[in-house]
Amino acid sequence: MRRFYPYLSYLRPHRGLLLWALLCGIIAGAASGAGLPFMVKTVFPVMFAKGAVPLTMWQLVLVALWIPAVFVVRGVAGYLNTYFIQLVGTRVLEALRLDFFRKLQVLPLSFFQKNSTGDLLSRGLADANQLQNTLTTVANEVVKSPASLVGSLCYLMWVAYHEQGVALVLATLAVVPLTVLPIRYIGKKLITRAGQIQAELGSVTAIFSENLSATREVRAFGLEERETSRFARASQTLIRAQMKFMKYEKALTPLIEILSACGISFTLLYAYQVHLDKDTFLALVTAIYASYEPIKKLGSLNNEMKRGLGALERLEEVLQAPVTITDPAQPVTVGRLRGDLGFSDVTFSYGGEVPALRKVSVALPAGTICALVGPSGAGKSTFANLVPRFYDATAGQITIDGFDVRALRLSDLRGNIALVSQEPVLFNDTIHHNLLIARPDATRAEVEAAARNAHAHEFIRTFPDGYDTIVGERGGRLSGGQKQRLAIARAFLRNAPLLILDEATSALDSESEAAVQDALKKLVVGKTVLIIAHRFSTIRDATHILVFDAGRIVAQGTHASLYANHPLYRSLYDRQSGA
Ligand code: ATP
Repeated sequence: MRRFYPYLSYLRPHRGLLLWALLCGIIAGAASGAGLPFMVKTVFPVMFAKGAVPLTMWQLVLVALWIPAVFVVRGVAGYLNTYFIQLVGTRVLEALRLDFFRKLQVLPLSFFQKNSTGDLLSRGLADANQLQNTLTTVANEVVKSPASLVGSLCYLMWVAYHEQGVALVLATLAVVPLTVLPIRYIGKKLITRAGQIQAELGSVTAIFSENLSATREVRAFGLEERETSRFARASQTLIRAQMKFMKYEKALTPLIEILSACGISFTLLYAYQVHLDKDTFLALVTAIYASYEPIKKLGSLNNEMKRGLGALERLEEVLQAPVTITDPAQPVTVGRLRGDLGFSDVTFSYGGEVPALRKVSVALPAGTICALVGPSGAGKSTFANLVPRFYDATAGQITIDGFDVRALRLSDLRGNIALVSQEPVLFNDTIHHNLLIARPDATRAEVEAAARNAHAHEFIRTFPDGYDTIVGERGGRLSGGQKQRLAIARAFLRNAPLLILDEATSALDSESEAAVQDALKKLVVGKTVLIIAHRFSTIRDATHILVFDAGRIVAQGTHASLYANHPLYRSLYDRQSGA
């Protein structure tokens, strides 16, 4: 229970609703816990006693209405209780999901390399859902069930004490502590299994989402069968985990019922021994039965808490994951930067034994168009990714205009950088909105001007809806070249002093290629540019070239000097240009 305390704060804004729910719950509990035993104990003996005075018309009506009235009160109060609790539940879920999503926005990129998208999806949806169920069930039952238990136990003790004294009270209550044993035993069994279910659910979702993101590859490589059996295996593991959970969870009710039957038969024997009259006996049995109901509920509440605990642990792994890339405590306030870029003794490791960058030092004055070249895995992308602090250097310092990047506010730093990535991601929205993300306050005319500069206006105009065309998920309705031109248009719109250009590895058709190259030529003017050159096609326009090999800068200079003096560069260039 203690583990849930920090999360009960999600319930705090809904105190009023919860109070109503509680009130209704207590009314419903009291109606079912005491309403019927009262009838058995107080009304039936008067009606059916030998030589009883016949009831008047009004008394008969009252008796006839009593049972339906108990059920009406129980039904209406129970309905309102459930309704209020569900209302709180959906609001809690909304807040929880929002916190989870908000956290995903600020976690460092390294976090997403360790956790699969599907598993994160499952945590944000299924685990949040489970925790919502648990919190609302706990909120609902944690007072209601004990209240109803105390209510029926008090009634039970009152009847027993009234008739036979303390001995009968003790006899009727003897079985109650025993019911705690199965609750505790089953609870222990459930805790590990609950975690397993949520983890397996995560694996199933992960396979699902991976498969949906690779629909083309599945068909192209004939992976249909392999994928289906992979999914079936994960699904079976999930079902096995669920069945193991159910095996114990569902055993609780019959166990408590068997114990309560033992309690009743024990009371029967005792009643026979002490010559208890049948009305008292019947009232006792009804009260005993009524008191086992909340015990059963408390038992399933315990089960529900174990489920919730499993989900909570998985959510906490995200909610409490450290946000390692943050604003400094006292940021240096900067506006638009010039773009002098400096790396001094920068080492970076992704966590493996071999660092991806080793003691890299370089100074690039503002306006340098710098191409990063080198064999695959040499560290070019890593070098570029450290500038906007997608990762933080393990050692050394990166500066812009002399400011350590870690001394700037993240929004200031990233606001001074435009990024054109290899495979630009577009949101499933209009072209206009997709461009606006580069500068939300841009006017329609500015957006169009940027698109013209990027040679995107030409193709946008041919769409019936023009700039209001929806581009599909990840820009699926556009060609590779069109997506690239939109990415360049975004960079034009952002007009940042630093530009990181991750050159596309896939070749475009010659017309698209020419348009993209021309747009890029215009884009780089006056900016400090890092071009991660995969195809060397933009290299001739670079004013400076850094040659990377195994995480080090092994040479730098102009194309002509490097080609003349550096064998690695010459061989890379010749291989790329087909010379
Ligand atoms: P390419 O031209 O193939 O894109 P690159 O020169 O850009 O290569 P990087 O992507 O910077 O190379 O990678 C440098 C090294 O770091 C490689 O050994 C790579 O395996 C490793 N690496 C890159 N990204 C990660 C990551 N997210 N986690 C762990 N290691 C990584």
